[in-house]
Amino acid sequence: GDTASDDKVYLIACDAKYAPFSFEENGTYKGIDVELLDAIAKTEGFKYELKPMDFSAVIPGITSGQLDGAIAGMSITDERKQSLDFSEGYFESGLSIVVNANNTDINSEADLQSKSASIKKGTAGSQFAEDNTDKYGLKLNYFDDSPTMFLDVENGNSDFLLEDYPVIAYKIKVDGDSKLRIAGDKLYTVDYGFAVKKDDNQELLKMFNDGLKKIKEDGTYDKIVGQYVGE
Ligand code: GLN
Repeated sequence: GDTASDDKVYLIACDAKYAPFSFEENGTYKGIDVELLDAIAKTEGFKYELKPMDFSAVIPGITSGQLDGAIAGMSITDERKQSLDFSEGYFESGLSIVVNANNTDINSEADLQSKSASIKKGTAGSQFAEDNTDKYGLKLNYFDDSPTMFLDVENGNSDFLLEDYPVIAYKIKVDGDSKLRIAGDKLYTVDYGFAVKKDDNQELLKMFNDGLKKIKEDGTYDKIVGQYVGE
């Protein structure tokens, strides 16, 4: 129908530099988050404008009402549920310790004592480091995006960084002869969710969940994810 709601353009954030979930290539954004959102929007018939930004700006943008939602490799956490509503989990992730490829002495969480950490502002990784600063005597070095956080450990400035497993695994695969190494098992497993402000934009949340279900059933989800992860 020709109603006002047909003209609604949702402003939806993604992380500007977060391959394989969202990244710019030849002037366009691609990746799992970007392509799932686009497929879901087409299936459900809603319009959106993609707003790539630093992750630290995403949650404040949603809670202040400047953004309608976000698909930003965002981990579903109980703390965030106080201010956000999440979709069903759309991707299983988790947090990894990452070191310089030349490092031999960090192989698990137990080896973090008195080390320096490269972390990305506003993330679940930075939360883990902050929660464990006193326990391990960590020194924290903050960055705005993943590529600059990676460089800090590649250049030997920080001893380790914290990044989501699928993101660092993809980077190491794409790098080939990578300067980074994943140290040990994931610290925890967590799902990514599409997020809106708590009790707000519920129609958008429902469309996301409905569309996600449909693109899982018709094979579109597997096709998108399979371009970036898997064999
Ligand atoms: N999954 C992590 C979080 O939710 C990191 C997200 C990101 O860096 N885009 O904090």
